[in-house]
Amino acid sequence: MFPDLAGRRALVTGGTRGIGRAVVLGLARAGATVVAGHQRQTEEAESLRRELKDTGGDHLLVQADVADPGQITELVEATGTHLGGLDIVVNNVGTISHIPYAQLPLDEWTQVLTTNLTATHLVTQGALSLLGDSGSVINIGSGSGVVGLPLRAHYTAAKTGLIGLTRSLSKELGVRGIRVNLVSPGVIETHHAEGIDPAVKAAYTNRIPLGRIGTAEEVAAVVLFLASDVSSYVNGATFAVDGGI
Ligand code: NDP
Repeated sequence: MFPDLAGRRALVTGGTRGIGRAVVLGLARAGATVVAGHQRQTEEAESLRRELKDTGGDHLLVQADVADPGQITELVEATGTHLGGLDIVVNNVGTISHIPYAQLPLDEWTQVLTTNLTATHLVTQGALSLLGDSGSVINIGSGSGVVGLPLRAHYTAAKTGLIGLTRSLSKELGVRGIRVNLVSPGVIETHHAEGIDPAVKAAYTNRIPLGRIGTAEEVAAVVLFLASDVSSYVNGATFAVDGGI
């Protein structure tokens, strides 16, 4: 099932849980060497370290809060030192909250825009010199950013912004051989989705043609496709991984 990524070097943000974790493990099992960013020292980070060790590669976990531009610089520098360059960047970090728009505080707006959109911009810009004249950048958006959903105007604005960033960079960086694409998951069974009201989740699931919530591995499979040469002519695209909703 995995494309061959032997010899490829990858940076994944938010790599210790959920979709990011599935991407990190998928890349590592496909032969890539991976630097995984994360925010906190958790049991999930420790268990990922152990699982990565079993893949046999020289992978690295780096603790860096992507809300802090200085820590993004440190993450990218640590990546350069460890890998010597980059072939794949997966901008996966994203945070969400569910708040009526009329009560949405400015600091919450700023926090969600920062972790979803500004962090993707800063990681990608910082990684450019490591990518050189080839590579694949994959941004993780959301169905919210495509259709717009209530109670998350800030999150939706950030995720729609990622579509624009992806399209613009696919043209500006495409001319130098760097492909930029976006994966747009529907509801996926992760910690991130735990905050969704159970009734809302059930109603949503009823509307999914495939009749179920997705898994992190099903999103990672599309990320691996975009990371590999199998997708060599795919650039500036948005891939929905949402069961058809
Ligand atoms: P999770 O909440 O399960 O995992 C988030 C990951 O990001 C963790 O590794 C966490 O690290 C890390 N992280 C969070 N905040 C920061 C930060 N400030 N700095 C560095 N790392 C951070 O998320 P998902 O896997 O569910 O989501 C991944 C992406 O997919 C997000 O962009 C999300 O918006 C998108 N998405 C998810 C959907 C879903 O239903 N799950 C649906 C649509 C889109 P730590 O554990 O150390 O905090």
